[in-house]
Amino acid sequence: MRISDIWHTIQGAGKYLACPRADDAVAWERMQKCARCPSLTVRRIPIVGGAGVYCGEALENRLKDPAPTCGCLVGAVDKHALRRIEERHGAPDEVRAAARGAMLPGGKVTCAGEVCPQGKW
Ligand code: SF4
Repeated sequence: MRISDIWHTIQGAGKYLACPRADDAVAWERMQKCARCPSLTVRRIPIVGGAGVYCGEALENRLKDPAPTCGCLVGAVDKHALRRIEERHGAPDEVRAAARGAMLPGGKVTCAGEVCPQGKW
């Protein structure tokens, strides 16, 4: 993880902690739409041990791309769930696919004022 990534993560965490909360049902509905989105990416978080799930490439603003993505955190997979997934699925693509199904809402989807950059929610 680069220093700039750490800084963006801290900024993002501060923003999401301070934002007005979306209703839990809304956050889950958004997250499920993200889980089916081809732009979603899953990135292991070494120190924490779980995985972050992001809109596009983690922490990269690509809002001008044809399929725009913001790089924001939209969910997380805890380290125990990730370990179980890795034990069951060997190939990285299979792990990523399974992690999408095991993610919990986090970050962007839990904030009331956020919108999907592709208009999916
Ligand atoms: S916020 Fe929108 S574009 Fe980003 S992963 Fe979720 S559904 Fe896809």
